[in-house]
Amino acid sequence: MKKCERCDQPTQTTSMSMFNTDDICHPCQIEEQRHPDYQKAKKVEFEEVKKGNLNFPGIGLPSDLKKKYEFGEIADTINAAKLVHNIMSTQGPSDETSQSS
Ligand SMILES: [Zn+2]
Repeated sequence: MKKCERCDQPTQTTSMSMFNTDDICHPCQIEEQRHPDYQKAKKVEFEEVKKGNLNFPGIGLPSDLKKKYEFGEIADTINAAKLVHNIMSTQGPSDETSQSS
């Protein structure tokens, strides 16, 4: 099982952070996207890649986002996102099989 490099929670899928080189889980990704600097981080990354710098490490994790993790404020967001994820994964394809009984 993979682990998120940012919140330390076990996760099945990770993606590269837009702010730095952390491999992060989906809830952390949502949290990044909600940050006001996200568009800026994306723009800078794009421009670096355009310049040929494919190993650009990112503009760095914004200090207020970092603080959220230090004070555990992020936990609510992560739990909420997990809940949504669980609800979504229990619905869907399983509907058809449950009808046969
Ligand atoms: Zn995470």
